[in-house]
Order: sequence, then structure tokens, then C-alpha cells
Amino acid sequence: MTADIDEFRTQVRKFIEANAPDGTWSDGVRVPRDAETERRVRDWYVALFEVGYIGGGWPERHGGRAGHTPRHDAVVMEEIVRARVPRPIDQVLLAAHLIITFGTDEQHQRYLPRIRSAKDIWCQLFSEPGVGSDLARLTTKAIRLPDGNFRVDGQKVWTTDGQWAQGGVLLARTDSAAKPHAGLTVFLLDMSTPGVDVRPIREMTGSAEFCEVYLDDVIVPETQVLGEVNRGWGVVNSGLASERAYVGANAVMLDLLFDDLIELAQYIELPGGTSAIEDPVIRDGIAGIRARVGAVALIAAEAVEKLGTGTDDPADGLIAKLAYTELNVAMCAHAMTILSAGVLRPEGEPVHARWRQAFLWSRALTISGGSSEIVRNVLATQLLGLPRSW
Ligand SMILES: Cc1cc2nc3c(=O)[nH]c(=O)nc-3n(C[C@H](O)[C@H](O)[C@H](O)COP(=O)(O)OP(=O)(O)OC[C@H]3O[C@@H](n4cnc5c(N)ncnc54)[C@H](O)[C@@H]3O)c2cc1C
Repeated sequence: MTADIDEFRTQVRKFIEANAPDGTWSDGVRVPRDAETERRVRDWYVALFEVGYIGGGWPERHGGRAGHTPRHDAVVMEEIVRARVPRPIDQVLLAAHLIITFGTDEQHQRYLPRIRSAKDIWCQLFSEPGVGSDLARLTTKAIRLPDGNFRVDGQKVWTTDGQWAQGGVLLARTDSAAKPHAGLTVFLLDMSTPGVDVRPIREMTGSAEFCEVYLDDVIVPETQVLGEVNRGWGVVNSGLASERAYVGANAVMLDLLFDDLIELAQYIELPGGTSAIEDPVIRDGIAGIRARVGAVALIAAEAVEKLGTGTDDPADGLIAKLAYTELNVAMCAHAMTILSAGVLRPEGEPVHARWRQAFLWSRALTISGGSSEIVRNVLATQLLGLPRSW
């Protein structure tokens, strides 16, 4: 198995070298800014699907690869991150996972080929103004009409990739009288339906990665219900496990960031004329971070190993996410300390721009996919069995 995985990793690296789109890519800048970039990014996703490096784990009748395991997925993600090229979009992987698991034959035939050919990008319409962590309290309503179809009204927010998505996995309330978790339904929303108004939000990074989405008298055919009416909570929660594919990749990301930290310290000249890398306080901070990067790598390696043997636990991904995202914030904070300790020599060194971007984006990762506080609550109650305090 190890030899097979090593050989697979070599093939993936060669493939990325030959096929990845040109350009400078970084986390937090994903939505293409012009038509040419969008074409190159979509072509890249098509190439990854065609070779089976994404969607490899799908059932073979939908284009999956025989013998493809979660361990292969982890290798692909690690190598994509290592090469600093565009990552497959989480929301697209999530939509595919949900459609495969809960979709009808008709939904499989309609949507899956369009995902593989990158004609359809998907977004996730869950959060609302005032409703994020406590998602079951959402208020967007889908009312059943006499012809069986639904009329949807409400507002969503923080919709990543909403501005270039063709499909949206929409969670809406179909029974207001039921308990919050019980009255929700998932719809496969065509984003070009009349009444869907997508407004990008500009972030402090300068990029616009997510959007507000207004839903005003949007008619959704009943054939676009995913799973059963009022059973949407189970549908969306089954999808969150698909994030585990990134566990190993995030450890790779920290390694790259650590290299950038060393590079930054070498380029910063302190007032006395020495380099920041020689300063004992800065070195001490870097050494502490190195130890934590090593610890996260071990956590990730164990999680990936368990994926390979099918002994993984939902808590593995949560522990790794917490460790990775919080360390990412700490590294960015230390980079800012280094940057503010002196001047950059030579001026305009690209590592400076990379750190500015990483710093501004770092907090987002401790919020998306479950904030650190919520992750700690879940681990405390579900893993450690501690009593709920709220
Ligand atoms: C980069 C990024 C991408 C995103 N993409 C999407 C997307 O594509 N689609 C989508 O629907 N949403 C998306 N979101 C939204 C995300 O799911 C929410 O931001 C997240 O669930 C938190 O909800 P909130 O922002 O409403 O904060 P709140 O839930 O209001 O939380 C505010 C603060 O209170 C804390 N808190 C809340 N409840 C508790 C509690 N019980 N105990 C202790 N502390 C608590 C939280 O940890 C947080 O610090 C994205 C967010 C980010 C940052």
C-alpha cells in the first residue's frame, strides 16, 4: 500500500507540473477576477476530474476510479497545496457528495456530469444574517405551492463562490411548526432562477470571495428537493465529513508557511543593521512555532493513516482543524511582529505580499466550517463526554 501511494504521489506531482494553470494563487483569492482566469481554472478542474484525481472516489458508474481510496484523495490535496495551485472547491465536493448520497437517478444524471466537466460550480446557501453557528434556527422559508413546487423567500450570507456558481445547495425551512432541526429541507437551486440576487461582499483582503444572496419569490420545482422534505438536517450534516480530505493538506500548508516565516525573518533588517533571524526573541518565537508545526503534522499524519485503514473518527478532522487554524493565526501574528521590527531588504520582496495576504485571511479559517469555539464545544461534549453548559 505504501509503495502504491508513493508511486501515486509521484504521478500526481508530474501531472500538476504539466497541467496546473499558470499564475500566482493563494488561499483567500479563489474567485476568478476575469473571464480568461475563469477559463483556465475551470480547465484545470476538468483535467483533475478526467484523470480521476478529483471525483476518483465516486461510484464507478458516475466516473470514479477503481481502487481509489480516501488515502489517494489526501495525497492529491497535499500535492495541490504543496504546488500552490488552485484547490478543488470544497463547496463543489460537498455538493457532489450530497447529490451522490441523497440524489435520485434523475438528479445524478442531470448534475454529476456537469460537475465533472466543470460547467457547474456549486455554492452552499446555509448561513443567514444572525444565523451561523446555530444553523438550525435559520428563517429562509420554502412554502409548498398547490402544484407541488416551492416558493422560497429569505436571505443568505457568506456564500463562498456565489458569484460564479451555477448551482446552490440551499437549506430552507419547510415546516415552521416543527422543532428547529426537524422542519428543514435541502434544495438543489439553479442560481439563474428569477428572484435569486447575488451580491459579492468585498473583504479586507481586497478580494470578494463570498456573497450575500437574496431569495425573493424564487420558484423551485419539487424535483429539486434533495433527500426528503423536512429531513434536510441529516443531509447537510452528512456532508461536513467530506472536509476530512484536507487534513493532510493543511499540515503541508503550515510547512510552506513556516518556510515563508524563515524567509521573512531573513529579509527584515533590524535598526542595528542585523537580520531579524539573528534576534533571540524572534528566534525563540520561531522555535516555538516549529514545535507546534511538528505537532500538527503528527496529528494530521495520524488522521490520514486512520483514513487509509478506515478507522477514522469524525473527531479527527475537528481536532486537526482546530490545531491547524489556530496555529495558522499564531504564525501570522508572529510574522507581523517580525515585519514591524525592522525594514524589508530588498524592498518589495514578494514574501512580504504573501504574508500580508496570509495574515488578513487567517482569521477566516477559524470561523468557516465551524468556529474554534464551536469545535471546542463539540469535542468537549461529544468526544470527552463533558456536560453541555449552554
Ligand atoms: C471563509 C468563510 C467561508 C464561508 N463560506 C460559507 C458558505 O459558503 N456558505 C455558508 O452558508 N456560510 C459560509 N460561511 C459562514 C460560516 O458558516 C459562519 O460564519 C459560521 O458558521 C459562524 O457563524 P456566524 O458568522 O453567524 O457567527 P456566530 O455564530 O454569530 O458566532 C459569533 C461568535 O460567537 C461564538 N459562538 C457562537 N455560539 C457559541 C456557543 N454556543 N459557544 C461558544 N461560542 C459561541 C462563535 O465561535 C463566534 O466567535 C463562511 C465563513 C467564512 C469565514
